[in-house]
Amino acid sequence: MPIDATQAYDDQNIFAKILRGEIPNNTVYENDHVLAFEDINPQAPYHVLVIPKGAYVSWDDFSENASDIEIAEFVRAVGHIGREAGHVEPGYRLMANTGINAHQEVPHLHVHIFAGRPLGPMLAR
Ligand code: 5GP
Repeated sequence: MPIDATQAYDDQNIFAKILRGEIPNNTVYENDHVLAFEDINPQAPYHVLVIPKGAYVSWDDFSENASDIEIAEFVRAVGHIGREAGHVEPGYRLMANTGINAHQEVPHLHVHIFAGRPLGPMLAR
C-alpha cells in the first residue's frame, strides 16, 4: 500500500529496522549520515537504495527538515555510489517516490539507483 508522505515518522518501518540492525541488508556504502544497500527485489541488474540515517518519511520531509550537513552528505553519497560502481559513463537513473501517487511503500526516505542496462523511457505509459 502506498503511504501518505505527510504522515508522522513510524519507527517500526522496515528501513528503521535495517538501520537498527534488527534485519539484515547487503550494505554497499555507509557513512555517519547515510546507508546504502541492495534492494531486496531488484528491478535492474544494479538496484541500490540510499537512505539517510535520520528519521525522515520522504523527500518532502527531508528537504524541509534535515540539516545542511545531512542533505550534503546524502546528495554526495548518491553521486559517490554511482561513480564508484562505474555507472556514470553508461548511465544510471535515480528515483525517490514520494507519497501516494508515486506509490511510495516504505515510509523512510529512500533514493533508488538503477543501472546496468538501458532503462527505457522515464515512465510507463
Ligand atoms: P518504494 O516503492 O517505497 O519507492 O520502494 C521500496 C523499495 O524497498 C522496493 O523496491 C522494495 O523492493 C524495497 N524493500 C522493501 N522491503 C525491503 C527489505 O526488507 N530489504 C530491502 N533491501 N529492500 C526492501
